[in-house]
Amino acid sequence: MAKVLTIGEVLVEIVATTKGNGFLAAQPLVGPFPSGAPAIFIDQLGKLGTPCAIVSRVGEDDFGRVNIDRLLADGVDVSGIEIAPGETTGSAFVRYREDGSRAFVYNIRHSACGNLRPTAASEALIDSCDHLHVMGTALSAPGLGAMVMDAARRIKARGGSISFDPNLRAEILGAPGLREALEAVLAMTDLFMPSGEELFLFDDTRDEARAVQSLLDRGIRTVVVKRGDKGASLFEAGARVDTAPLVVSELDPTGAGDSFGGAFLSFWLAGAAPEQALRYANAAGARAVTQLGPMEGTSTRAELDALLSEQKG
Ligand code: ATP
Ligand code: MG
Repeated sequence: MAKVLTIGEVLVEIVATTKGNGFLAAQPLVGPFPSGAPAIFIDQLGKLGTPCAIVSRVGEDDFGRVNIDRLLADGVDVSGIEIAPGETTGSAFVRYREDGSRAFVYNIRHSACGNLRPTAASEALIDSCDHLHVMGTALSAPGLGAMVMDAARRIKARGGSISFDPNLRAEILGAPGLREALEAVLAMTDLFMPSGEELFLFDDTRDEARAVQSLLDRGIRTVVVKRGDKGASLFEAGARVDTAPLVVSELDPTGAGDSFGGAFLSFWLAGAAPEQALRYANAAGARAVTQLGPMEGTSTRAELDALLSEQKG
């Protein structure tokens, strides 16, 4: 079975238990929860039994341990997570506002994962994995971006495949060299999984059908568009599949896109029919929002089957 690699941040998330505007007063918090978009993504793959690994960096502290223990328990190869003595694992404090938007306090850039760099273990994983999942956010960090590009080229050159979730906020699009890096990854991409506006990153016609067609014309095999509480769509040459959202009560939307992506890739790599891969991914995204904590909502096959049979999805 193909083994999947991803490279990027591992951190803990600490969540305010009340809604409101940020952290200007003392307040109740819950956490630490394991987090980091690449970590959530790879945890979902591990839970579905797809061989997978992550390259990251944490401090020698409880926040790092919380992540490593969870990923290990869920079946992820953690040999590429470097433990840096004297450094601190990344963290993010998040509080939801009444309108659903979020306020963050981040400690990522100056944390252990802010110094992610090649190690003997990461090199061995790049040489042994068959698929790389690229998070667009990684490309905006200079050292990490170069490492991801190098891994993509090497895995692709060995006949492996690449999936790509831009996962970008408009604010970081102006980062130097980011556009060129996004284009370079897109040129190697087999499976592209944008959400909302990200579909138009490479084509500003604002016309979904045209944007999708131009992506397929570049040689991308599968484009999956995530639509939040409106479900998702899949496009391949001459084929389109849409799926309606499952009905769930949304407690914490963080991590939905990563759980969706991990589940989709697991089925896609196993050669599942597009309808089946999309149905399970849609269920994984829906289940993710029902749990407080970004990685708490990743799902086993049994949990996805239960949700789907409950809703005949
Ligand atoms: P993230 O914030 O993690 O980056 P994203 O924008 O990449 O999220 P979303 O589109 O928010 O991803 O969610 C991914 C998928 O999860 C959706 O396409 C849908 O299938 C499912 N999903 C998300 N939110 C809901 C919801 N409230 N109800 C049902 N399904 C949902
Ligand atoms: Mg996303």
